[in-house]
Amino acid sequence: MIAAWLALIGAAVWPGQLQVSTAQGLKRIDLIQWQGEGPLVPLGALARALSGTVVNEGNWVVLDAPTGHFRFLPESPLVHDGTRLLALPATTHRRGDSLYIPLAFVAEVLADPARKAWSWSPGTGLLAQRTEPTPLVVPLSRKSVGADSRSRLQNGLKAGHHITIDAGHGGTDPGNPGLYFPRGVREKDVTLAVALKVRSELERRGVSVTMTRTTDTLINLGQRAPRYCRAECDLFVSIHVNSLEKRPGYTAVRGFETYFLGEARTTDAARVARMENDAIRYNTASEDVDVSDLAYILKDMQSNEFLRASARAAEYMQSMLVEVESGPDKGVKSAGFAVLTTARRPSVLVEIGYATNPADARMMSSNSGQDRIAEALANAIVNYLKWYDRLTADTQTVDH
Ligand SMILES: [Zn+2]
Repeated sequence: MIAAWLALIGAAVWPGQLQVSTAQGLKRIDLIQWQGEGPLVPLGALARALSGTVVNEGNWVVLDAPTGHFRFLPESPLVHDGTRLLALPATTHRRGDSLYIPLAFVAEVLADPARKAWSWSPGTGLLAQRTEPTPLVVPLSRKSVGADSRSRLQNGLKAGHHITIDAGHGGTDPGNPGLYFPRGVREKDVTLAVALKVRSELERRGVSVTMTRTTDTLINLGQRAPRYCRAECDLFVSIHVNSLEKRPGYTAVRGFETYFLGEARTTDAARVARMENDAIRYNTASEDVDVSDLAYILKDMQSNEFLRASARAAEYMQSMLVEVESGPDKGVKSAGFAVLTTARRPSVLVEIGYATNPADARMMSSNSGQDRIAEALANAIVNYLKWYDRLTADTQTVDH
């Protein structure tokens, strides 16, 4: 690998400059040496040459260019290319406001032939834009390669989609006690009833469904996504019921919200994540998720393309639920849910209403209410899959 990298940059004849050739002309960028580590490229100058910008986003420095979106973690070799987290053969360095990145980023990542955007001539240090720049292929498209042959269903969906539905809680973990549910009915019962109805609604729409549970049984939080939502899984949907601690006026609070994995931005979102993560105490000994790893996992995942798809799925959930629910649309939110941290596919968690509100509880525990919620969720999932099909159709044309 290191040998290949030395060959690529052609160290012996290195001119000390990077040349960037685009339709706008040729730009030269002076490289710097950093304590014998090899040439570094000033990211700001590179961005200008690529007609892009550089912005700081949390710990990351982001290069946004027409031919790609890359995130660098300063003082580390890590770069995220929108698909994968890659390690460069040298580290990036911050000096003042500027970030300097290893030339290997240009040679191996930007000019990666699979990207079809740039070509790299090591002898002359020339990065040339291909005549017809193509958009990045996002990872969502990957499993669709060869999917052209997949037939279309009557509803316009491509055949062969798989969804995993996770009925929250179960077995010894009852979830929230269901203050206004009929006697003996707890969160785990409602999530299962709704999840089973979503499955039949999806199957009627030609979508295959895997359930994390179909009975009143406990599945460890950390195993739900990895075990039941694997490579073929298009979306992991976890279904839950909200509730509040007793406090003045708490039974008046109602509504539905959909989460994807991210930092909690409100105290209420943090509360919901704490409440749902509490299920970890019911886990059996084999449990492998440590919630203290959450910050680490989030750092790793925040640039993941799947998060963007998850956020999109959450929007579809909210926009369909608002059609059937009488409570307020509390929107798309992010928070650190343990059940989502182990999902390596797009994933969302839906809180379909508050068991501590009489009207919400009545709807969620009635057969007709569950039917309406399940139908809305199934429609939302189909809309998400249509979006997904369009996305993969667009990127497929790139491959040809
Ligand atoms: Zn729950």
